[in-house]
Amino acid sequence: MSDSAFELPQSSKGLVRAPKVAPIKAAPGATLFCDFDGPIVDVSDRYYATYRMGLEHIRAVSPEQGSSMPIRYLSKGQFWTFKQNRVPDRQIALWSGLEGEQIDSFLSHVAQIVNQPALLHQDRLQPGVRQSLKLLRCHGVRVVLVTLRAPEQVIDFLEQHHLDWAFSGLYGMSQAEAAYANQANHKIQRLRDAIADQHRHGYSTQASWMIGDTEADIMAGQSAGLPTAALTCGIRSNSYLKAFRPTVLLSDLRSAAQHIIDPLVLRV
Ligand SMILES: [Mg+2]
Repeated sequence: MSDSAFELPQSSKGLVRAPKVAPIKAAPGATLFCDFDGPIVDVSDRYYATYRMGLEHIRAVSPEQGSSMPIRYLSKGQFWTFKQNRVPDRQIALWSGLEGEQIDSFLSHVAQIVNQPALLHQDRLQPGVRQSLKLLRCHGVRVVLVTLRAPEQVIDFLEQHHLDWAFSGLYGMSQAEAAYANQANHKIQRLRDAIADQHRHGYSTQASWMIGDTEADIMAGQSAGLPTAALTCGIRSNSYLKAFRPTVLLSDLRSAAQHIIDPLVLRV
């Protein structure tokens, strides 16, 4: 296991509490690989705040333009719809009234601050996540997080929300900027590492799934030969995700948990 992978319940560093929900008989081989931003966490407020801070930064460093500078703040709804439809950040900056070098400056400022600890308190738990994780655990499904976030950030969030019992492993990236860049090759590698570790620890991944909210998650699952559940509650739209041909396209983790558990119940 690399330095950015954690076995959550077995953590010896006191970072993780003991499970609060008793595990029930496991269905053999039921391990779910799940992305963090999107399925578990709603990052839209943080991303929108970062966008606004990026524009304020440009206003501050362009004193010659003063307050007459024609910056147009998109609404949260407009901004998030653009993000979900993969409108490039450069285009969003242009539509917000920036031009030329201002756009480059805006982009680099946003990339610098978006995953900084001071903004992470804006992240929210997605609705229904706690119940979905309990449901999965009650059916013996192990959930392993595969994310491009820094593991320390993920552990902090899980502890704040008393969700550390819900996960059997955490595979993240040590570079804080990796989450925003969301490179598919990083996700492919992290999932590969996670699967190899499950096998090393004697867990089958035959009935496994990869769940996520972006093309990187779908591509990682497909590359590992796993069925994929793409969720539309995150940073990509239904129509955008559809083009990557996930096994199923669902609204959120609750629907995904139900979809995965139904065959287990039928098998019993
Ligand atoms: Mg995500």
